[in-house]
Amino acid sequence: MSINVAIDGPAGAGKSTIARAAAKHLGYIYVDTGALYRAVALYMLRQGIDLSDTELVGRALRGVDVSLCYDAAGEQRVLLCGEDVSGEIRTPQVSMAASQVSAIPAVRDFLLELQRKIARENNVIMDGRDIGTVILPQAQVKIYLTASDEIRAGRRLKELIEKGESVTFEAVLEDIRQRDYNDTHRQTSPLKRAPGSVLLDTGDLTLEQSIDRLITVIREELDGAV
Ligand code: C5P
Repeated sequence: MSINVAIDGPAGAGKSTIARAAAKHLGYIYVDTGALYRAVALYMLRQGIDLSDTELVGRALRGVDVSLCYDAAGEQRVLLCGEDVSGEIRTPQVSMAASQVSAIPAVRDFLLELQRKIARENNVIMDGRDIGTVILPQAQVKIYLTASDEIRAGRRLKELIEKGESVTFEAVLEDIRQRDYNDTHRQTSPLKRAPGSVLLDTGDLTLEQSIDRLITVIREELDGAV
C-alpha cells in the first residue's frame, strides 16, 4: 500500500515549499493540487468564461484536459491540454480565479479521481485544502499547516517581488484574506482541519526549521501508525 501524507492549510502558509523539500528528503512524490485548480482557472480565463456562471463553467470542463507530470529534476509540471502551463498559473489573477472556480462542485468532482489515482499509485505528500478531509481521508499522516495572515502575506509578497511583480503588502494581505474567506466559507469541501490532523504553525519557524519539523512529524506519525 502506498504511503499518503495529506497536508492542508490556507494560502501562503508555505505548504508547497516545505512539502516539496520534505518529499525530496523522504523520496516521495510531491503533489501540489492547487496547480490543478489553477490550470482549470487558466482555461476558463482563456476562454473568457464568466466564473460566476457555475453552469457554464461546469459545461466548459468538457474541454479541459489537465494532468501532472514530473521533470528530470522531479519537479511537478502541470499540463493543460498538453501545454506546460506551470509558469503561467502563478499570477495573482489566476490565484483569484482558482479560488473562485474551486468553489464549484463540478470542478471539485472533476479533479477528485485524478488526485486519488496519483495517491493510490505513489508514495505522496499531497497538499491542498481538502486532502485530509475529502480526497484522502484514509491518509496515514494528516497535517494542517498554517501561519498568521500577516506572516503569510509577507512571505507571498517576497515571492512575487522576486518574480518581478509590482505589488504592495496591503494588496497581498487583502488577496490572502479574500482567498481565506472563500476557501473556508464555500459549501463544498471548505478548508478545515481534518480530524486527527497534526497542527503545524510555521509562524515562528524558519524555512529550514519548518522542513525539519514536517519531516519529524511525518516520521513520528508513520511510526505511530504501524
Ligand atoms: O494552493 P494554491 O494557492 O495554489 O491553490 C489555488 C486555489 O485553489 C486556492 O485558493 C484554493 O481555492 C484552491 N484549492 C482548493 N483545493 C485544493 C487546492 C487548491 O480549493 N486542494
